[in-house]
Amino acid sequence: MPSVIEKDALIIGGGIAGLWMLNRLRAEGYDVMLLEKNQLGAGQTIASQGMIHGGIKYALTGNLNTASEAIADMPEHWEACLAGTGDVDLRGTNILSKHYYMWPRNSLRSRFNAFLGSKALRGKVTSVDKENYPAFFQTHIKGPLYKLKDIVLDVPSLLNCLSKTHQSNIKLFNRDKWWSVERNAEGEFKSLTMQQDNETYIIKAKQLIISSGEGSKDFLKKLIPEKELPDNMQMQLRPLQMTLVKHTQPHPIHVHCVADQLTATPEVTITTHQCADGSSAWYLGGELAESGAHRTQEEQIQVAQKKISELFPWCDLSNAQWHSFFINRAEAQTKNGKRPETASIHQHKNITLCWPSKLTLAPDLGQQIVNLFQEKNVEPANYNNPDLSNLNFPGIAVPPWDTM
Ligand SMILES: Cc1cc2nc3c(=O)[nH]c(=O)nc-3n(C[C@H](O)[C@H](O)[C@H](O)COP(=O)(O)OP(=O)(O)OC[C@H]3O[C@@H](n4cnc5c(N)ncnc54)[C@H](O)[C@@H]3O)c2cc1C
Repeated sequence: MPSVIEKDALIIGGGIAGLWMLNRLRAEGYDVMLLEKNQLGAGQTIASQGMIHGGIKYALTGNLNTASEAIADMPEHWEACLAGTGDVDLRGTNILSKHYYMWPRNSLRSRFNAFLGSKALRGKVTSVDKENYPAFFQTHIKGPLYKLKDIVLDVPSLLNCLSKTHQSNIKLFNRDKWWSVERNAEGEFKSLTMQQDNETYIIKAKQLIISSGEGSKDFLKKLIPEKELPDNMQMQLRPLQMTLVKHTQPHPIHVHCVADQLTATPEVTITTHQCADGSSAWYLGGELAESGAHRTQEEQIQVAQKKISELFPWCDLSNAQWHSFFINRAEAQTKNGKRPETASIHQHKNITLCWPSKLTLAPDLGQQIVNLFQEKNVEPANYNNPDLSNLNFPGIAVPPWDTM
């Protein structure tokens, strides 16, 4: 006999999107289950740089658009959560840096002064006095250096915080075994059937939420015939090649290095992470990662080495280990293929496809899903479900700096 489980909502995918929505919906009293096929965060979330940013970098172009507006309040929102006073309790998440720095090339100095003078940015970016430079930069750079109100989080501890009180509702979705999804005559999601240890589980839910990142496309394919799939449920991928430099430099850095042109993508965006083996890793994103998508790994490492020695000539990295890997950003499709500016949800009957677009925007996505449930009058119900302790918790993904 299969075990039949009934839920208000079933979430597919346990990255930042799925976990944030699980927290918000459970706090609203909904009975929600999350299925993850790998480990929590295993897609983009564990590979992210952990920056919670207020969109200042978009303002570099002088164009304070929807992106900057949607994202501007996010650092404060996260700070409240980190302090235990926000809509999700993130106490216990490690903060790697309370500030992010922006270091423009000297030639940009005058344009930066104009940029800082703009009303929208007042109070959000401050120029750093020489004596207050972070240890890594002291005496080495002429400046200018700017401090942003952005924060950098340790993502594994964030995933732990988001999952630890919900472990009995987060289960491993063993897709190696046979599984199926069923819809009713109206085309609504009815149930998902899966197997583990020769047991069959039928999970019925009033609402299905798909937050499977790049995996969303395959999941949707199994659920909705191609010709029925609404246009707004299409996704786009933006490929990146990220670089890791493992070394023993004593001082962490969290900085956007801004090149000679003011664009929304800094030439290199660097965060520093502590590795399990005691070394540190600089994690290099920004334009280096975007253009790197078209290079081989060997070429990427050469380009990264050249760039870093140009930027930090005082740094001895002769014993450093250099690694790189490819990863896609998976997002809602936009008309021009550019990055989407906000978190978004896309509905088809009782099926909702969700894209946070950025780690930073997860709170926005969480609010959108709560609003949707309220608009649709989804009422929390009491179910008499069987014991699910046989179904495993998927565990938390290992960050790239500990797998290379
Ligand atoms: C290299 C990189 C750096 C980034 N840095 C930042 C940053 O510093 N700041 C920022 O704001 N944003 C950043 N981003 C963007 C941010 O990481 C993503 O927008 C966000 O993590 C997406 O979260 P998600 O939950 O939608 O998807 P994912 O994190 O990809 O999670 C999807 C989950 O679904 C699971 N899954 C897939 N298919 C199935 C299935 N069929 N059944 C069950 N589970 C399934 C996957 O295993 C995965 O765990 C970065 C992105 C990348 C790639």
